[in-house]
Amino acid sequence: MADGSGVTSPGGAERLAAVCTHLEEIRADLRSGPSEEVDLLERVLAAARDGGDIAGMISVLHAALQAGGDPLGLDGYTDHSGAIRSLRPAGISSARAELVYLCPEGRCARYWWPQATAPVPHCAISGSILRRERL
Ligand SMILES: [Zn+2]
Repeated sequence: MADGSGVTSPGGAERLAAVCTHLEEIRADLRSGPSEEVDLLERVLAAARDGGDIAGMISVLHAALQAGGDPLGLDGYTDHSGAIRSLRPAGISSARAELVYLCPEGRCARYWWPQATAPVPHCAISGSILRRERL
């Protein structure tokens, strides 16, 4: 095990956000991997829907991605999706910080900035459209 990253996010909210945001990519990743772990992704989503403890399953999913040849696993996706705590930095441009869309269930740390040409995405966990929030 070469995982020296010192994971400190027990709820896995950021990794769950990666799942929520990049569901299709992660699914494709799992499909192309050596194991039949596509099912695992569905189990993670189901557990998240139920409000269960997903931290353990998220870790398994993370490991499965790594086993599939992606050394960063889920953390490779979290880099792109960012984290909720970076949502309100002091210097953020107010022009685009007025509205943000968040995970409707609050289960994951996903957020999405409104884009004129793009429809509001759905949460992969609840299946509902992201919740609009004022900053
Ligand atoms: Zn979500």
